[in-house]
Amino acid sequence: MSKPEKIVAIKGMNDILPTNAPLWELFENTTETILKSYGYQKIVTPIVEETGLFARAIGAVTDIVEKEMYSFEDSMNGDKLTLRPEGTAGVVRAVLEHNLVYDGPKRLWYKGPMFRHERPQRGRYRQFFQFGAEAVGFSGPDIDAELIMMCRRLWDDLGIQNVRLELNSIGNADERLRHRADLIAYLEKHEDILDAEAKRRLHSNPLRILDTKNPAMQDMVNAAPKLLDYLGEESLAHLEGLKKILDRNAVQYTINPRLVRGLDYYNRTVFEWVTDELGSQGTICAGGRYDPLIETFGGKATPAVGFAMGMERIIELMKGLGEAAAPNQCDVYMVHQGEEAQAQAFILAERLRDAGLDVVLHCATPAGAGSFKSQMKKADGSGAAFAVIIGEDEVASSKAAVKAMRGESGEQQQASVPFEEVVDYVVDQIVGDHDHDHVHYHP
Ligand code: ATP
Ligand code: MG
Repeated sequence: MSKPEKIVAIKGMNDILPTNAPLWELFENTTETILKSYGYQKIVTPIVEETGLFARAIGAVTDIVEKEMYSFEDSMNGDKLTLRPEGTAGVVRAVLEHNLVYDGPKRLWYKGPMFRHERPQRGRYRQFFQFGAEAVGFSGPDIDAELIMMCRRLWDDLGIQNVRLELNSIGNADERLRHRADLIAYLEKHEDILDAEAKRRLHSNPLRILDTKNPAMQDMVNAAPKLLDYLGEESLAHLEGLKKILDRNAVQYTINPRLVRGLDYYNRTVFEWVTDELGSQGTICAGGRYDPLIETFGGKATPAVGFAMGMERIIELMKGLGEAAAPNQCDVYMVHQGEEAQAQAFILAERLRDAGLDVVLHCATPAGAGSFKSQMKKADGSGAAFAVIIGEDEVASSKAAVKAMRGESGEQQQASVPFEEVVDYVVDQIVGDHDHDHVHYHP
């Protein structure tokens, strides 16, 4: 028989392997703790939604809806479905569907995989994870400031430095319309400098041209009419209010007049947290206000603001910090030989787990059950604080050998402990151990 062809993951979709999982866990736990400390509640929405939801929530003339969505027909009934490219649309749909704001505004967060058909490169994948927050029903700059300060706390807690905050206001639809007319006129005057992408967007989404990364267009877009100069009194007051809170809380930012969300339903505050340490994919968190969106969904006008973080990019930064060595697999590794010893090992392992310990029980491989020596090697490699060893002699005496794998001076003390006392013995040893870092004990 010829060897079957290997199946590999889809391009741009990554595995998170056990060596990296602790870093992800650290990031997720830290973020969730912080979100909770600001009163945000978790919401989980489906990965698949009706295609129409995204076209409406994100805007028909955006990168995402124009070319990045994974859409397909349900083979059972022909429904047009899409793998979610971002989280806000689903959250807003759920908020309306379940009337979550009937008793007042809500602070929500979500996390999970998003899908976009992009050209895979560093920091840009076809499946990537986002952590996001949405505050629904709040209108003032205070909640904008809260979201931003929540991010700052996260960077601090994770030890991420060298990340800066860029801030802008994109006003309201009327203000953008007035700016748009002048912007298009300006861009038309410089049509010779526009690249194909910009030409295509000239009349559909000219604001997004300001966002271009094309070096040849930088001088031209820098001198383009600035949306900030078109803001009316209320939009300006909102921006000033936000700046004031940030200033009072020593949050540093730069106003970037070219920062936009090219989405129809975004308004006023937009912000990005950016680092120079990830090459051209340096935005680790992007957020903004989208007050008009919920009404376009048929809901009662409800202001909202949120952000989304690109988890892969943040994990990449965390790797640079060199922390979070892979933790031990377990507290106790069960070594056993013989049928009766195995039976005892199973019973003891369950009791140890009842007591809150993480226990790995040695299991057979195609190479066999393994000699004591090879099992002890596995015990060592597992990082366990203790090996509990049961062989013929131990079965005969109803006592297990309990070996401390990581003694103070590297010595490996061993004790003979009656089966029924093993749990107490190990727990005592671990609780008495001042160096708790290497144990998982969680009673
Ligand atoms: P860009 O201009 O880089 O394409 P975007 O405007 O499409 O960004 P958002 O939709 O605002 O990005 O997504 C929020 C965050 O999610 C981004 O700042 C980034 O950190 C992350 N992100 C977006 N797309 C990807 C992707 N394809 N792979 C990895 N992370 C991504
Ligand atoms: Mg994009």
